[in-house]
Amino acid sequence: MTDDATDTDEGGLPERLDYDARLAALADGVLLGQRCRECGAVSATPRRVCMECHAEDPETVELPTDGVVHSETSIEVTPEGFDDGYRVGIVDLGEARVLARLGGDAGIGTEVSLSGVVSDAAGSAPVFE
Ligand SMILES: [Zn+2]
Repeated sequence: MTDDATDTDEGGLPERLDYDARLAALADGVLLGQRCRECGAVSATPRRVCMECHAEDPETVELPTDGVVHSETSIEVTPEGFDDGYRVGIVDLGEARVLARLGGDAGIGTEVSLSGVVSDAAGSAPVFE
């Protein structure tokens, strides 16, 4: 991945955010999202179309890495390859909410920070704790 379009090593943000670019940035401790050029809605999940106004071609933006746990749930029935359950939650970052893995004992209302990224049988996700 040296001249890949998703490379973020140049300091610039990827023109078009996709899951690979998001994951690459997460590995560097940067959480990327998108801001609609029409209505300004911010999404923490790469989308081609704005969820609010359906405008296309949102711009890539850097999201805050501190937030508050909005909701959380334990995954007890896990994909193959897991020994234990894990917890996921929605972290409210202010402008946007992001689906994340929760570490430590973070519960609803807990202030959390991005601590890394996990890639396993359940997929890749930012980790907040
Ligand atoms: Zn919009």
